[in-house]
Amino acid sequence: MAPQELEILVVEDEEPIRRGLCDVLAYHGYVPTGIEDGESGLREGLSNRYALVVLDIMLPGLSGFEVCEALRERHAHLPILMLTARGSEEDVLAGFRAGADDYVTKPFSVAELVARVEAILRRSGSLPAPQQCAFDFGDWQIDPPSLRASKGDAQVDLTARELAILALFLRERGRIVSRRMLLSQIWGAANPERVETRSVDMQMAKLRKKLGLGTGATSLIETVRGAGYRFGG
Ligand code: CA
Repeated sequence: MAPQELEILVVEDEEPIRRGLCDVLAYHGYVPTGIEDGESGLREGLSNRYALVVLDIMLPGLSGFEVCEALRERHAHLPILMLTARGSEEDVLAGFRAGADDYVTKPFSVAELVARVEAILRRSGSLPAPQQCAFDFGDWQIDPPSLRASKGDAQVDLTARELAILALFLRERGRIVSRRMLLSQIWGAANPERVETRSVDMQMAKLRKKLGLGTGATSLIETVRGAGYRFGG
């Protein structure tokens, strides 16, 4: 979670993606403003309010590259994160040439986006150094920096996605976490439809097995029939 209410400008013309980005950023404690075209994005970006600009490339009015260059001319240190198409190295290189600090390829995962945003804000000094933030999950001690779970002598390696799932359940302790929420929070807010809910169930089954959490209603992460899952209810 962001410790301060940093304002982030999101310039993206595709409404579902823009809304998804703003929702994710707000969920993580930032204050997002969504803008749908290049010219307004540039005007807004020059206002000095923002700690970071998330910038799409294909925009009505000015392109993301043009906005990036113009912002960079006036604000040498304003962090800019470009949204590029998957597999387009050309976009990435052009983005860096235009002055972008980093990029995320679309469709992006929420975990990746948030990690990039945090990394940029840390580099720019808007966020403090990473908290190591170890946490307990049932009998397990989770160590985020090393992606490791330990219980007594037992040690298990976690994937970044598994870590994100555990952290999500911890935040939502006692509350039902729907498959839909898992899809949008863990797999990506922009296009949750692309991943089937079956993938969520398979991932959850794998994670339960890995950590020996049990299954069904007796599991540390219980199945809530027809709804989703709940941790430590
Ligand atoms: Ca676009």
